[in-house]
Amino acid sequence: MAYVIAEPCIGIKDKGCVAICPVDCIHEGVYEQNGTTYDMLFIDPAECICCGLCETECPVGAIFLDVDVPERFQPFVEINADFTRRLRLARQ
Ligand code: SF4
Repeated sequence: MAYVIAEPCIGIKDKGCVAICPVDCIHEGVYEQNGTTYDMLFIDPAECICCGLCETECPVGAIFLDVDVPERFQPFVEINADFTRRLRLARQ
């Protein structure tokens, strides 16, 4: 399991989550898919240790445990995973 950042983060990017994450697995960036641009923060599911600190820190309620992501935000599970997968590849 991992935490996921969803749509309410877009254009907000408070970054309190970045500061509090103990494993530094939250990354800012821009992801594009099917003509839509997502300018937000993303959690790397391969690194997240599910401490939950970011969820309570987020001022706009954008962060959910993957199994609790509301239906309307379901695409963000894969968006977080794909963005951070691309980021890891770019850094290799
Ligand atoms: Fe980082 Fe914890 Fe949030 Fe995972 S749950 S992204 S480890 S602060």
